[in-house]
Amino acid sequence: MGSGMQDLERQLAEERRVAELAREFLALEQTDIEAGIERGLGEAGHIAGVDRCYLVAVPGSQGRDADRYEWVDAGVASRRPHYEGDTTLGQFQWVSDRLRRGEAVKLARLDDLPPEAAAEHEVLGRHGVRSCLFFPLRSGAATMGVLGFECHRQERDWTQRQIAILELVVEVFASVLRRKRDEDARVESQRALQRQLALAKQLADLSRHLVGFRPEQLAAGIREKLPELAGLARADHIALTSFEPRSLKAEEVYEWWQEGVPAESRRGAPRHGDFPYATEILGQGRVYHVPSVAGLPAEAIAERVDLEVRGVRSQLTIPFFSTRRFSGLLTVECLSREHTWFEEDITLLRLAGEILAGALFRMHAAEELLESQTLLLQSQKMEAVGTLAGGIAHDFNNQLAVMLGNARFVLEGLKDQPDIASALGDIERAAEHCARLTEGLLAFSRRQPVEDRPLEVARLLHEVQGLVSPLLPASIHLKLLVSETVDWIRADAIQLQQVLINLIVNARDAMPEGGNITLCSRRRQVGHQEAAGLALPEAGLFIDLMVADDGLGMSPEVARRVFEPFFTTKEVGAGTGLGLATAYGIVQQSRGRISVESELGCGATFHVLLPSAPPERAAAPRASVVDELEARGRVLLVEDEPAVRRVVQRMLSDMGFFVIEAQDGATGLRIGRERLATLDLLITDLTMPHASGIELARGLLIERPDLPVLFLSGHSDGRVERVSGELERAGFLQKPFDVSDLTAALRMLIQSDSP
Ligand code: ADP
Repeated sequence: MGSGMQDLERQLAEERRVAELAREFLALEQTDIEAGIERGLGEAGHIAGVDRCYLVAVPGSQGRDADRYEWVDAGVASRRPHYEGDTTLGQFQWVSDRLRRGEAVKLARLDDLPPEAAAEHEVLGRHGVRSCLFFPLRSGAATMGVLGFECHRQERDWTQRQIAILELVVEVFASVLRRKRDEDARVESQRALQRQLALAKQLADLSRHLVGFRPEQLAAGIREKLPELAGLARADHIALTSFEPRSLKAEEVYEWWQEGVPAESRRGAPRHGDFPYATEILGQGRVYHVPSVAGLPAEAIAERVDLEVRGVRSQLTIPFFSTRRFSGLLTVECLSREHTWFEEDITLLRLAGEILAGALFRMHAAEELLESQTLLLQSQKMEAVGTLAGGIAHDFNNQLAVMLGNARFVLEGLKDQPDIASALGDIERAAEHCARLTEGLLAFSRRQPVEDRPLEVARLLHEVQGLVSPLLPASIHLKLLVSETVDWIRADAIQLQQVLINLIVNARDAMPEGGNITLCSRRRQVGHQEAAGLALPEAGLFIDLMVADDGLGMSPEVARRVFEPFFTTKEVGAGTGLGLATAYGIVQQSRGRISVESELGCGATFHVLLPSAPPERAAAPRASVVDELEARGRVLLVEDEPAVRRVVQRMLSDMGFFVIEAQDGATGLRIGRERLATLDLLITDLTMPHASGIELARGLLIERPDLPVLFLSGHSDGRVERVSGELERAGFLQKPFDVSDLTAALRMLIQSDSP
């Protein structure tokens, strides 16, 4: 009974100590918890009558060390030094399994351990443990840690009562550990919140920093901010790549490198397309993250080689999108060590990158606006120059007609004075040259009448190729690329051919050493905004006719001026500076636009952008004008003035006619009758010796009433009208005339016959 009383008293005393311990723990300030636990372990050791007592708390978040506390009695070695670097309860697999399930492990002696617990046996034995207890520290259904008691001096059995008391102690430690965990979590979330706030502030600073910049300062502003961003990302290299909205090829890279990064490592940011594996991931809008080179999959060969060659240990690339289009990349790299970027780093970098990319986007938009304003100004200037040039050309043309007419008249009377005649011939030729110039000016100012009809693009390009080939030396190769689609435009065939031929001849001139010229066409959809930017009258589907060369190219200053009349870089006498001005006027007139892309030394590409215009009825492709003229290939030309006859003959042959000549009306009648069946056209002067043009025509038309006739005359008189009335198809052309007059007259004549 006495010993029963003693037991009871001891039990009460132990329970008091436990209660005391609990009260002490409750009273602990947050900052004292750790010291409190250490002290409490000593108390627990005494209550248990052991010589070592310890607590291990499994880490609350991944990557952190377990918290370990221990108390040892005098004479027992501390095991603290062994804790270094050990983050788990690792080796004690058998014990851990039980603790995780919430079971305590009680060992009166080590030999009580089953064979599976050989590791426990070995480690505990090595540390001189004779008996021990492991209690799980529970929070709900989870085990937060272990409270351990060890006896080193002797083996001992654990009575039910002792265990019951120790379970109370365990509950006291579990509750203090729960409290510590809650506190830690609170502190942790507060810290996270603070970090978030700091980041938000940094981002706000960043955007404030950039918002105020004018476009020309932006690049510098971005460069200035890069080191700061690299610091946030703990990176040795940062690169912001921004892509132009229109093409992924045009990119701008802003970079910063940590000091001391060797030159061979500084090989720029990943270029779009160089790295297929990365591109695939980025193309899906995902972040490309390489914490370690070893972690790259086998297919990422290019990526691996790049990182290894440059000595990069970790890499992160974040893609950006602007209105669903790929707009940029932010890359950070670590060379000094491996680094894993966590979700919050990525979020920060993404936001920062979006701010930077957004600023660049605004800059590009501003640039585009400026560009379109410049374009508008330029087109207004061209308009003004055109009006001026047109006015001058018109009057000038009249004066030329007088000069040419008189020169020819005087020449007539000078057959016996060859010297003077030759001088006068020079004057005439000079005046003719002037006439060609004014023709160009008139085209530029759009004062020439034009034919506007559907043209099939492939056919047009083939015709141009045929016409221009003889003008090209063997060292120049003209390649024709015809699109597979059947495309139509509306324009004056002859004029448009003239434009393209002009572009090809210019390309030839830009390649004195020879080279390649590509002539091709492509469809291009132009939106309203772009149309306005390009000074096009309307948006829609366009056909882009391109003439590209790999010649000398031109500087931006030259490229800006090439369409101005009289602008030329060619030697005096070699260029008139009217070719492109004429082209400009012709294209403009067809509601299109001509432009050039060029770089000095890198060739030039001229674009002739014309609205796509399929013919209304889905008719069989109509032959172009040239073909129609060719289809009516044989012409009898009767003209008594040899010079005029030669000129007209040349014009006609150039157009593809086969020309039969006669020097007066009677000869014309004879030849005409002989070949009447194969003739397609009669062109005759009105006033001639032996038989006039009208007599000739009447003579031939008796048998070929369908034969088209074109009368030429130096002076208009009433006779033609009268005769024309009787004839089924007749036209009249006033001298002097040029190719385009002749073409126009022929066209009218031929068209009146077209079905
Ligand atoms: P011209 O050929 O009589 O000089 P153009 O109006 O046809 O007149 O051309 C104007 C100028 O444009 C040329 O003098 C030349 O400097 C430049 N140019 C035109 N085409 C090209 C080209 N393909 N490559 C380089 N420069 C060109």
